[in-house]
Amino acid sequence: MERHDLIPGEGSLTRDEYNQLMAILKVARMGHPVLRARARAIDPADIRSPRIQQLIDDMFQTMKEYQGVGLAAPQVHESLRLFVAGFAPQPHEDEGEEEHVPLMALINPEIQLVGDAVAEEWEGCLSIPEIRGRVPRAKQIVVQAYDRRGKRIELRAGGYTARVIQHETDHLDGVLFFDRMRSLETLTYLEEFGRYWSREEVRAE
Ligand code: ZN
Repeated sequence: MERHDLIPGEGSLTRDEYNQLMAILKVARMGHPVLRARARAIDPADIRSPRIQQLIDDMFQTMKEYQGVGLAAPQVHESLRLFVAGFAPQPHEDEGEEEHVPLMALINPEIQLVGDAVAEEWEGCLSIPEIRGRVPRAKQIVVQAYDRRGKRIELRAGGYTARVIQHETDHLDGVLFFDRMRSLETLTYLEEFGRYWSREEVRAE
């Protein structure tokens, strides 16, 4: 998906206009029942409505504000099957190719696993601040969804992008990353993560 399709107009607004149009939403934290509810599908006819378009813009803004790589609608108290994701490493950061996650807003996503290869990597979550844990996820997936224009799309993803999509889609079913861990042994506070596990920052989803 092309970036300019996903955040229309961002580049053509002044900073004040942008701030007026966008809002940073409050993120629900673990314990809020909205995070454990199964979110309802969005009627495809409503995708282009101002309410859903504004929600998508605000979710991108909120994700950016909190330096997340993904954010699902239930995390901002909207029990709808929608998430946004995207992350571009800074040029000076020495990160692998798979760290890059294309910008996307997916509505009513459905995931199919491709093959049975599984990778276990660190995850965080904006709704579970300061905590990291190792989570097994399918390495390759295919997602079918609607994009923010209401167009039916199919996306093949692997590596970190596949991980993020699985994490966000789980939010739509009331599933948190703890639920997917094989054991809770690797649950780690961010400070201890930095001290004992890695020098690189792991982004929250
Ligand atoms: Zn999350």
